[in-house]
Amino acid sequence: MARAAWRWERRPWWWPSRRPTGRRPSKQPTGWWTDSRRGHPSGRRRSSREGRSGSRGRCPCPGEAVSYHHPPPPPSYCGYCGGPLTERWVEAEGRQRLVCPQGHISYLNPKVIVSVIVEEEGKVLLLRRAIEPRRGYWTFPGGYMEIDESVEECARRESREETGLELELLGLVGIFSRPAPDGPGIVSIVFRGRIVGGKLRPGHEVLEARFVPTDAIPWDELAYDTTRQALESYLAQRGSPIVRP
Ligand SMILES: [Zn+2]
Repeated sequence: MARAAWRWERRPWWWPSRRPTGRRPSKQPTGWWTDSRRGHPSGRRRSSREGRSGSRGRCPCPGEAVSYHHPPPPPSYCGYCGGPLTERWVEAEGRQRLVCPQGHISYLNPKVIVSVIVEEEGKVLLLRRAIEPRRGYWTFPGGYMEIDESVEECARRESREETGLELELLGLVGIFSRPAPDGPGIVSIVFRGRIVGGKLRPGHEVLEARFVPTDAIPWDELAYDTTRQALESYLAQRGSPIVRP
């Protein structure tokens, strides 16, 4: 298939919101793969001047400092060799990709969030968020999965950090998604769980923790669509009616 010439005006939705300046961005991959014991695949070390850049992650919505509900900006440089990434048609995959001069493809994949609906005496544990995005809205314990843990480990760790509770996971409620470009590009995995230890002690990301009867769930004050979908699935699986106050 013929490839149209690159034009800024026809950039895809995930392209950085500013024109490229030609200046090398102060951005290098960080994480376990840059651990000195493992070494970066490129063999390159980060210099002290290279930190996280500020402006590229800004949200296009007025008044919002950081992009939370849009996909994050894509990388400018290859994570394997450090070469500049350009948008190219990859025939074998049938879509546009970010490719470096050496042919490494930088895939843009969703992030995984793992959460738990904690049951106790017919009630569910809801947390009111103390942090943006959606500060003041209700959700359940959960968060971003780390690359070196399983989904079950993530569910128990996030619950421990946010509530102080040790959980036993009872089963899967469901898997929900908020794809880009309307959402941030997220896959949300939600378990059912019960308390097996610890004490309810909300963490710094939580304004308030409350066990809520299932007929008093604040449907209009839930943080995300996926929060609502998961609670609806959970109630349907329990055979409980959905009561909207
Ligand atoms: Zn490369």
